[in-house]
Formats: sequence, structure tokens, C-alpha cells
Amino acid sequence: MNNLPRIGLGIDVHRLAPGRACTLGGVPFPCDVGPVGHSDGDALLHAACDAVLGAAGLDDLGTLFSDRDPQNAGRASAEFCHEIMRRVRERGLRVLGLDCVVETEAPKLKPLRAAVRASLAALFAVDLDRVNVKGKTGEKVDAIGRGEAMRATVVALLGAV
Ligand code: MG
Repeated sequence: MNNLPRIGLGIDVHRLAPGRACTLGGVPFPCDVGPVGHSDGDALLHAACDAVLGAAGLDDLGTLFSDRDPQNAGRASAEFCHEIMRRVRERGLRVLGLDCVVETEAPKLKPLRAAVRASLAALFAVDLDRVNVKGKTGEKVDAIGRGEAMRATVVALLGAV
């Protein structure tokens, strides 16, 4: 394995439903709707995990943590991050940067954007100024624009420790 930087992309969509707890990037959001999922449905962490796994050349999130495994039911996605980072370190790699986009009508990202950045930086052991999170609405288009779902897209850059 050479020491050149490695790039990965992760995308995740979750349906939104009333009365579900809403966690985004590991941060609880006060919101009337939340993601439907086998785990806590944290679309941003799922996309970030897949981006990091992709860059590391490891299996994807769904393969490592099956949504059919009862052990993963209601599980905090932050736990997936800890296990993934263990594997990343084992390969002699570290996260150099994360760039994230969250598309959703609700919750609004802005009030907790700084907290989400800090949470991602801590979970993936990367400097805060190398993590960015952008919130977008769906502009009334498709399921996201109608508030039926949210989507997170993350690009991760990894390098040798
Ligand atoms: Mg997911």
C-alpha cells in the first residue's frame, strides 16, 4: 500500500416520520420528525462511515453492520464510527478531511451546525477546520423537498498515519 491520499464517497437516505428521535452527525436535534431506520437512522453518520470505509478500501457500512442483525436495532451510529475508526487505524490510515452536505426540510441544520462539525471531528479524529457541513433544502422537489426523507452526502479524504 502506498502513502498517497485516498478519497471516498458516501450517500445515505432515510425516510422521515413523526415522533421519531432525530440524531444527525451524532447530535440530537429537537424536531417533530425523525429518520426511520434499523439503528438510530443517523443519515449523516452513515454517509460519513461509508465515505471513510470506501477511502480505506474496507467493506461498506451495510455489510459490516447489517440492518437485519437484531444487535444493531436502535443502536447509536456513533458506535459504528468507533469500530470503523479502529479498522482504519489498523490499516495505518487516518482521516484528513470530511466535506458533508445534508439535504432536508427538517430539522434545520443551522442552529446546531457547529455542534455537528465538532461531533464529526471527534468521532473521526480529524481537525475541526478539516470538517465542513452544509445544510440544503430540497427546494420542494421530490421526496426530500416534500419533507418525506433526508439525504446526506459525504466525501472523505484519508492518508497514512
Ligand atoms: Mg442509513
